[in-house]
Amino acid sequence: MAKNIPELYASLVFSDKIMRAKLPKDMYKALRKTIENNTHLELDVANSVAVAMKEWAVENGATHFTHWFQPMTGVTAEKHDSFISPTGDGQVIMDFSGKELVKGEPDASSFPSGGLRATFEARGYTAWDPTSPAFIKDHTLYIPTAFCSYNGEALDKKTPLLRSMETLSHEAVRMLHLLGNTEVTGVTTTVGPEQEYFLVDKKDYEKRKDLFFCGRTLLGAASPKGQEMEDHYFGALSPRVAAYMHDLDQELWKLGVPAKTKHNEVAPAQHELAPVFDTSNVAVDHNQLTMEVMKKVADRHGLVCLLHEKPFEGINGSGKHNNWSISTNTGLNLLDPGKTPAENTQFLVFLLAVIKAVDDYADLMRISVASAGNDHRLGGNEAPPAIVSIFLGDELTEVLKSIENDTFFRSSRGIQMDIGAHMLPHFTKDTTDRNRTSPFAFTGNKFEFRMLGSAASVATPNIVLNTAVAHALKEFSQELEGVKKEDLDDAVHALLKKAIKDHQRVIFNGNGYTQEWVEEAERRGLCNLKSTPDALPHFITKKSVDLFTEHKIFTKEEIFSRYEILLENYSKTLNIEGKTMLEMVQKDLLPALYTYSRQLSETILSKRSVSDSLSTASEEALLTQLSLCGDALSQKLGALQADLASASDTSEPLKAAKFYETAVLKDLEEIRGYADQAEALIPDQLLPYPTYDRLLFGV
Ligand code: ADP
Ligand code: MG
Repeated sequence: MAKNIPELYASLVFSDKIMRAKLPKDMYKALRKTIENNTHLELDVANSVAVAMKEWAVENGATHFTHWFQPMTGVTAEKHDSFISPTGDGQVIMDFSGKELVKGEPDASSFPSGGLRATFEARGYTAWDPTSPAFIKDHTLYIPTAFCSYNGEALDKKTPLLRSMETLSHEAVRMLHLLGNTEVTGVTTTVGPEQEYFLVDKKDYEKRKDLFFCGRTLLGAASPKGQEMEDHYFGALSPRVAAYMHDLDQELWKLGVPAKTKHNEVAPAQHELAPVFDTSNVAVDHNQLTMEVMKKVADRHGLVCLLHEKPFEGINGSGKHNNWSISTNTGLNLLDPGKTPAENTQFLVFLLAVIKAVDDYADLMRISVASAGNDHRLGGNEAPPAIVSIFLGDELTEVLKSIENDTFFRSSRGIQMDIGAHMLPHFTKDTTDRNRTSPFAFTGNKFEFRMLGSAASVATPNIVLNTAVAHALKEFSQELEGVKKEDLDDAVHALLKKAIKDHQRVIFNGNGYTQEWVEEAERRGLCNLKSTPDALPHFITKKSVDLFTEHKIFTKEEIFSRYEILLENYSKTLNIEGKTMLEMVQKDLLPALYTYSRQLSETILSKRSVSDSLSTASEEALLTQLSLCGDALSQKLGALQADLASASDTSEPLKAAKFYETAVLKDLEEIRGYADQAEALIPDQLLPYPTYDRLLFGV
């Protein structure tokens, strides 16, 4: 514990430094080549790495190893094997081979596979991903792996992410070479995901079936105070929260997760953690790890960390901001406006590729963040609307306008430039105000995709983004290839001009929360996919299948299987919520309501027995209200029960999901209305579960 931070940092990671120290020189070189150039790893190298890894892991207290992977459940999976190997004389040695490092064979039959289940005979493989470092947690060596079927179909979120990074690298290099930047041989996408979360007291949490089973409250009257005072955002940390965050940072640092900023968020009991960005692949793994460690550390502090997108009605939910950029292996951020017009040309080409990608595949961007939980957030006046648009800021928007119209560009800093024929303007980082309502905002040298929910893996949005941008770059390259060198400037200019014309409809710098924007977006032809069942069918359109298969991110079968898994997830979530609601109202709330009603009746009777002249009007009024709520509740519970039964009888996945959305979700909302009315009338000590006051202000 006395370790200083640089010493503590990544102390449980099989880092590059350790590899260099532990591996024979030629083996280390071969491994670096594999990591940097995605080349095949020879077995002798794998064996050598395995020996070094095991040695280091055992030295650091590990007894087991696990292939750590990310199935379609959205959380991670692991199966632990010990290093022990009997030697025949009753003794054991600690052993680990290259074969065990590179490949595992977990039984895949219990993981969601959608329609792929029939074809892959339950056999699955995990394959080592050397681009994400191994680490030790709970006496186990964790080896990040990709998970696929016997036939090579991806069953996880890492495989398509790696595929999408490779595709984007290929298309970006192709474009850079066309533009004359021939030094670059590879690019990588970078991601910094800001993670929001809630902390509640564990004792309170355990009394609430809704939090326990669903991760969100299904019931709960508003507390007298919510977030209206705006006093929590960046507010001073309570000692308990500060102790938690301190502990969390330490644990994450040991695992090499570069946790950087922490602060209170807008809603009471809500907080945020942001790491320093890394390559998409490592950032995704680290984000999974962060969510896991957040929960584990909370438990130690008598707290529970809620990662649900909308744990509480009436106050902000939690999201994740996916900060995203592309950097070259020569150290250049391609979304950083440069200092010279040539750098700016390059920047503008990549900027427009992103704009085109987001406009062309807005529906897939929406799908990439779609879940039952996130549906409660998107479209509320807290998270971005469900309409995907891009915020560029005034200066950049002006730049694009002047390119489109061949006019002068005058920057806010007084720089004026003719950008008619060949010249592209010189401008630097946008200095305009930040827009918080935009789903996809340019923030100086990166884009921030803000529609992500707090609970989901960040892999999917990055798969979509990388693939769509790769596709846009490919189309641009096809335009420019074959153009004579002396005509290139004109061709680039024409290309940019056309792209701006075609895609400016997706740019919106105004307030995304207004009704006017909803109407304006409709006029512009932008899609507004309000719910998960509305959005998901866009995943299996020809356009989507063409995109993913052309770039070899998903096969058609993989797309359909994922589509089915996502729909099933949605339905299962609502089914659990429905059943939890039945239980909570029937077994927790109604008995409390009856107890209080009895107490009131007894009060009325006893008052009457004392004297006829004593008024019982207030008790009677309360009793009447409670009775009405009770009747309505029991009637609505009947409706919910019937709807849950019909829903589970619906076998077609989209139909079922739609039914859950239109019938079950509506039942839940109606029941909540009456339940919250009743809750507000019943004294706290009779309520079997803690109210919003306790949950939100108890820590
Ligand atoms: P905000 O103002 O939106 O809260 P923060 O400063 O909290 O922003 O977070 C910004 C995030 O963006 C950090 O995780 C940071 O590491 C990340 N980031 C910065 N530059 C890049 C980049 N080039 N690529 C990806 N992420 C980046
Ligand atoms: Mg942000």
